[in-house]
Amino acid sequence: MKYGAVKNFINGNFITINSDRMFPVISPSDGTFLTELPCSSASDLNLAVSASAAAFQSLSKTPIKERVQVFFRYKFLLEKNIDELAALGSEENGKTIGESIAEIEKCIELTEFACSLPQLVTGEILEVSKGVECRCEKVPLGVVASIVPFNFPTMVPNWTIPNAIALGNCMIIKPSEKVPLSLGKIALLLKEAGLPDGVFNIVHGDAEIVNAICDHPGIEAVSFVGSTKAAQMVYRRATQNLKRCLALGGAKNHLLVLPDATPDMTAQNVTASMSGCAGQRCMAASMMIGVGTIDHIVEKICAEARKLVPGTNLGAVINKASKERIERYINEAERDGAKILVDGRNAVVSGKEHGTYVGPTVIDNVRPDMVIAKEEIFGPVICIIRTNTIDEALAIENTNPYGNAASVFTQNGGAARYVMEKASAGMLGVNIGVPVPREPFSFGGWNESKFGVGDITGKSSIEFWTKLKKSTVKWNPEAGINWMS
Ligand code: NAD
Repeated sequence: MKYGAVKNFINGNFITINSDRMFPVISPSDGTFLTELPCSSASDLNLAVSASAAAFQSLSKTPIKERVQVFFRYKFLLEKNIDELAALGSEENGKTIGESIAEIEKCIELTEFACSLPQLVTGEILEVSKGVECRCEKVPLGVVASIVPFNFPTMVPNWTIPNAIALGNCMIIKPSEKVPLSLGKIALLLKEAGLPDGVFNIVHGDAEIVNAICDHPGIEAVSFVGSTKAAQMVYRRATQNLKRCLALGGAKNHLLVLPDATPDMTAQNVTASMSGCAGQRCMAASMMIGVGTIDHIVEKICAEARKLVPGTNLGAVINKASKERIERYINEAERDGAKILVDGRNAVVSGKEHGTYVGPTVIDNVRPDMVIAKEEIFGPVICIIRTNTIDEALAIENTNPYGNAASVFTQNGGAARYVMEKASAGMLGVNIGVPVPREPFSFGGWNESKFGVGDITGKSSIEFWTKLKKSTVKWNPEAGINWMS
């Protein structure tokens, strides 16, 4: 075992977890046994909630301009430690070092946004009648929880950590049991940046501790990012317990490619979108719908895909079960009549034989009724469906139950506008393979890709992490008593 057993981080200290239920943490890159993760119990969670509640007493009284000073320092620490963080993220998640560096750069951008929050959360005040003022301000919720997936060990946690804490909340985060290490380093950087003990806590475990979080009366709000099945369960459970909840789920993103699309640029974007982070992004292209004659673009996509070499410029998928699941989808599609143009099955990287790699895969002649066209694959696979009209393509996009992203590739502004109007997804792109809105814009899908109101990042997240306090004030005796009194 390369590292010591995973510990919780509570009240500024790493604490041993006593449990018989253990998860091995294996590097997807080469199969190295990194560590083991014991599952926290309800009493471990109680410790974290008590530490958070105590820290909230002083954090909530600290002015926001003072609170964000920690995040200015944290941003510089992320920059200073980018190589170490990227290496750790890559080791536990399997993505390439370049992708890991990009992930930390995104954490830096998220933190910069949190540093700007004092400019965005000023309240409102108005003299509503002579001598009577109404004032409205955004105040923190208290102890909040963030439950995160494996595919971005640092970025998804940083969707929530800087904003929630800068806005005055104390946080308990539950990392993915598949990638628990990066958040330990993040905890140390937050401490070094001057975050008071108890404001940020880590509790490790699996679904059992997530349920305990949803049930805990001391936790005011739960944010969740993961698969749709788990997002639905968490949303139901947390809201049933009268908590505020925002739960982001899985995705199946469609790229519409029109015959007038610029061939090279389109091929590069489609391939990068389907293969980045080995296809394990909730914004990854999964389906490409060609409208009309697009054979010349498909040829270029295959050429781009063949440039991807597992273990070199294409990372691993998270584990053996995931590799087997992805290959099963490809087998089924082939059996049902789809044509495998580029085949990533049975990829083995020399010297990393225990790594879990899937090569780039391009599948043509996919029909909308095939399983591979309906379910989230989460691997470096693009499926191509052929249609004759934009409306046919949109009908396929519209009937998929998810709604994270959709993009169109074309040089025709009218056609692009038509697709933007009709696509049923929260994040849309024109000539962009991964249409992630950047700060200060917010991130969040529609339909079964998100449960709850508002988005998880950017300006929209302010509403999630705060509640409104409205005060009506009368100092002037001239105001007297009237119908409003
Ligand atoms: P996952 O749902 O298996 O796990 C996510 C988190 O939920 C983990 O912390 C896990 O311990 C916990 N969990 C798992 N099963 C649970 C259950 N039954 N009840 C309560 N908690 C449970 O997801 P994953 O495999 O870690 O991540 C991949 C998924 O996340 C994909 O579906 C991907 O699309 C999605 N994702 C979505 C977004 C988005 O913004 N919509 C972003 C990143 C990832």
